[in-house]
Amino acid sequence: MKAIRIHEFGGPEVLRYEDVPDPQPRKDQILVRVKACAMNHLDLWVRKGLPGVKLPHILGSDIAGEIVESGEYITGFKAGQRVLLAPMHFCNHCAKCVAGLQNQCPEFTVLGNLVDGGNCELIAVPAVNVIPIPDNLDFNQAASVPLVFLTAWHMLVGRAGIRQGQTVLVLGGGSGVGIAAIQIAKLFHARVITTAGDEKKLGKARALGADHGINHYQQKISQEVRSITNKEGVDIVVEHVGAATWEESMKSLKPGGTIVTCGATTGSNAAFDLRFVFSRQLSFLGSYMGTMGELYEVLGHVFAGRLKPVVDRVFPLKEARAAHEYMEASQMFGKIVLAP
Ligand SMILES: [Zn+2]
Repeated sequence: MKAIRIHEFGGPEVLRYEDVPDPQPRKDQILVRVKACAMNHLDLWVRKGLPGVKLPHILGSDIAGEIVESGEYITGFKAGQRVLLAPMHFCNHCAKCVAGLQNQCPEFTVLGNLVDGGNCELIAVPAVNVIPIPDNLDFNQAASVPLVFLTAWHMLVGRAGIRQGQTVLVLGGGSGVGIAAIQIAKLFHARVITTAGDEKKLGKARALGADHGINHYQQKISQEVRSITNKEGVDIVVEHVGAATWEESMKSLKPGGTIVTCGATTGSNAAFDLRFVFSRQLSFLGSYMGTMGELYEVLGHVFAGRLKPVVDRVFPLKEARAAHEYMEASQMFGKIVLAP
């Protein structure tokens, strides 16, 4: 089959479109023909070099496609079925996995991170990863759902415990996680304030349900939040930006407020005054992907049309390099998809 592989870490030039052996599915695996694989910032981090990634390596976490064949031990699936894949790898038998806390499994990793991913034509995965999709979702849309909607659901629902009527600040409203978080917060009838780098993206974020937009290049986030909330601040900040926004995120919280973070795109060192944390009774929560139960929960809303994936642009798989360059230029609103 054809695949995009890296043989060394580096810039977009290390992505190679080449022939690799077809995967040989085990008896407990399903072979899926990849029709679409959506990109995430993780693809850029892995390409640049993350610890534990073995070379050569196939990138890509968010996969939708058709079942080619199921292993002997598997029942309940049939060839030709349209599916998406849970974008994670876990052992499925440790105490955490059987308790439904797959993202705390010692073997947990994201597809395309420590295990090969979906920038290829065929992939073999355990049946637990394979989830049928309804006909009203095309492959590009389906591939645009799993990682970001699961991440945002775990952040807001699993970790921060969002309640109806709260006020939520979603940083980077044009990012994959931002687009998902805005919609999930609105599902809980929250008031949503979001940020983006230009008016066009803010307009699109409003169209998804955001009540207020802040241009983070022209306005100071915490000041705008204070004025929008009548000096109260927000209940929850959805953080994934990191060093560049951490202080503004803290200052945007109301007393008792929560920052939930799943990433640090601009840098991972944040400094803060502990007195500010205890006197205002703030909570800082870490969040990483989510559980299979949460994935099914959020997919229920996607399949029913209450949450909508946003596809920015589809590139042919062999043009992965152009897709990486496009993502690094940060001009997208929504997901970039690679289609074999
Ligand atoms: Zn496990």
